[in-house]
Amino acid sequence: MDPPRFVIEPSEAESLAQKSGLTITQLLPTLVKSAQSLARPPISNYYVGAVALGSSGRIFFGANLEFPGLPLHHSVHAEQFLITNLSINNEPNPKYVAVSAAPCGHCRQFFQEIRGAPDIQILITGDSNSNNSPNGEIKTFETLSNLLPDRFGPFDLLDKTVPLLLEPRYNNLSLIIRNGGIKINSTNSISDELKLEALEAANLSHAPYSKCPSGVALMDSEGKVYKGSYMESAAYNPSLGPVQAAIVAYMVGGGGGYERIVAAVLVEKEEAAVRQELTARLVLQVISPNCEFKVFHCNSKS
Ligand SMILES: [Zn+2]
Repeated sequence: MDPPRFVIEPSEAESLAQKSGLTITQLLPTLVKSAQSLARPPISNYYVGAVALGSSGRIFFGANLEFPGLPLHHSVHAEQFLITNLSINNEPNPKYVAVSAAPCGHCRQFFQEIRGAPDIQILITGDSNSNNSPNGEIKTFETLSNLLPDRFGPFDLLDKTVPLLLEPRYNNLSLIIRNGGIKINSTNSISDELKLEALEAANLSHAPYSKCPSGVALMDSEGKVYKGSYMESAAYNPSLGPVQAAIVAYMVGGGGGYERIVAAVLVEKEEAAVRQELTARLVLQVISPNCEFKVFHCNSKS
């Protein structure tokens, strides 16, 4: 069986729309059910799917993830998954989003990290995947500013020129090498590659509020690597941890069951005010108990 897909290329989106006699924006709500089927919510059994059309013409999928054995705040909401998917694929500008249930307050807030967030068009499909609601009314998109009128956002804390979540940034971090470097032995599955991928993820991390960027790289049992960057919210609590972001990358990359994650590296600043190490260790221990986990520290290049 082919692994589930989380991105549809523009040509395929066009042909899907044509076949159904729909415009691309009308196509979006019809894809929400497929997005829902990608969810992994073993605690609530409540499947949420979210689909976005980017300015590149690509369509992106997101779905909710829950982790039994962990507190609920470790869950990934479908919209957060979607935004992480946009970030992994360098899509700066989601114009239209269709989602199966009304976005919660936390997700409305997380969207604010995207430049132009108030203008994003949102359509809530409910249980039906048609463009009509049960009473026959045509469902319409509404702006995010309608759903969150008096918003707290990045510019309450940051200068307007600071790169926002989906904009290019590079944090200029390098690994701290001690004792002539970290020895890699052959029985250790933590490779230099995994370490460098985690460093790269930290370099791409959106942490303008705490200035404590971090990144995680995961390796599966076949040696394939997936990386995720920590993403902060101006409102702090909706921030998405680097392990969660890496799990999203793992799913988008066709990674399968979490037990296939055999090695993980976290890169973060030493003595940072916001540290991920203990939380990352806990999450990995619960979702993949045999996963080897290492932490390396970095600092800003002078
Ligand atoms: Zn939410």
